[in-house]
Amino acid sequence: MERLMKLGVFGGTFDPVHYGHLLLAECCREQCELDEVWFVPAYQPPHKDDMVLDGVRRAEMLELATAGDPGFRVNRLELERGGSSFTVDTLQQLRDLNASHDLFLLMGADSLRALSTWREPQRIAELSTIVVVNRGDRPLPDRDEAEPGPGSGRRLRSVTMPGIDLSATEIRSRVRTGRSIRFMVPRAVEQYIREHGLYTSEA
Ligand code: ATP
Repeated sequence: MERLMKLGVFGGTFDPVHYGHLLLAECCREQCELDEVWFVPAYQPPHKDDMVLDGVRRAEMLELATAGDPGFRVNRLELERGGSSFTVDTLQQLRDLNASHDLFLLMGADSLRALSTWREPQRIAELSTIVVVNRGDRPLPDRDEAEPGPGSGRRLRSVTMPGIDLSATEIRSRVRTGRSIRFMVPRAVEQYIREHGLYTSEA
């Protein structure tokens, strides 16, 4: 029988992508033995009120950050769908497109805490194995807190990464105030931000 492809689905705003995201993806790829990780930039994250940069630019920065890494891909499904980007819709769409994918939904510990407020968290847990990664000094939640809810598939995995206390908010603030972002984002992403004059003013 053909083996299911183990596919990591990593959703986020990626405004911009930084090394915290990339290391999270790599640690999940290695520890969960994923065949691929797909970075899925949100068109409009439902839980973020602030303006986000145009999805085309965010996806281009992701392409630059993942170029040359055969296991990493950028998927524009949420950008093409438009509207509020609900994870459950994305997982369902991926499942409908290819039933032979075993889906792993990657997220930092902060996102897992908010999962119960997402649309259809139980369906999310049925469609995917949720993979949670420590973020900064925030430890991995204990199992009870992590349970997506009664009746769910209850598939949850913890992955550890060397903590990187970095956020896209910090990157944007650094660019706005003329501080260095070197070694926080890949060089090509840094160049892209400079060339296009991104994040120079408060959005
Ligand atoms: P912002 O500062 O704009 O809120 P962010 O840096 O938190 O952005 P997102 O695109 O919102 O980035 O995050 C996507 C996913 O990556 C989330 O699941 C989040 O928990 C995770 N993540 C982001 N930064 C890190 C980090 N430094 N370490 C571990 N996980 C991270």
